[in-house]
Amino acid sequence: MEEGLAYFWLIILFFIGLCIGSFLNVVIYRLPRGESIALDRSHCPVCGKTLAWYDLIPVFSYLLLLGKCRACGAPISPRYLLVEFLSGLVTAVLFFYFGATAVFVKYLFLCLLLMVVFFIDLEHYIIPNSLVIVGLIGGIVLNIAARDVGFISALIGMLVTSGFLLIVALVSRGGIGGGDIKLAAVTGLFLGWPLGPLGLFLGILAAGILAIFLLLLKKKGRKDPIPFGPFIVLGTIIAAFYGNQLINWYLINFIKI
Ligand SMILES: [Zn+2]
Repeated sequence: MEEGLAYFWLIILFFIGLCIGSFLNVVIYRLPRGESIALDRSHCPVCGKTLAWYDLIPVFSYLLLLGKCRACGAPISPRYLLVEFLSGLVTAVLFFYFGATAVFVKYLFLCLLLMVVFFIDLEHYIIPNSLVIVGLIGGIVLNIAARDVGFISALIGMLVTSGFLLIVALVSRGGIGGGDIKLAAVTGLFLGWPLGPLGLFLGILAAGILAIFLLLLKKKGRKDPIPFGPFIVLGTIIAAFYGNQLINWYLINFIKI
């Protein structure tokens, strides 16, 4: 593709991503509260004022209003800005690498789904079943379309990732919930064997390191809950894009092949 035209498409994709992010913000806010996602117009959660169309332009409205509700001045969470910006960035970057392919759609879907899971679990300590179902159906369809993870690989990835976390949950008795195990089934399905289990392993590693820091800094006690879903999300994203390099690096340096 001619260079100028390629940049044009990346900018278009970035703006499409911003709009998707705007929708994801609605999902992140409403899903754990049991509110309808499709119906009612967006409104300020503090004063209830319905937002006008010019309050709903991704990023720009937030910056224009300086992160405050136009009617009551209540602060709007910077999460709105972050989710929109990340969606735009991820959409453009993945398109840059994969082009208009099924692989692009698969990893965009995975990243956006995991972002929604990340922010809901971080705030509410739950992973809604509806997201798990959307993830399982999306994973099956997109694996077939993208053809980068075969059926057997996906099946083994799903069973090993969720099965291992189930064992960890039984042994550790608490901290890891059913939602985390179901999420691990989704990430294992998407990445297959061995990247799915690698993602979980990286998540456990990151959670362990953070837990040690928090205990040392005395920010949290041993019994304070920390949601585990966000760690599965981070580990899975690293495994999806750098997993093969990590495995090669490990084999070369530690197994000396
Ligand atoms: Zn308000």
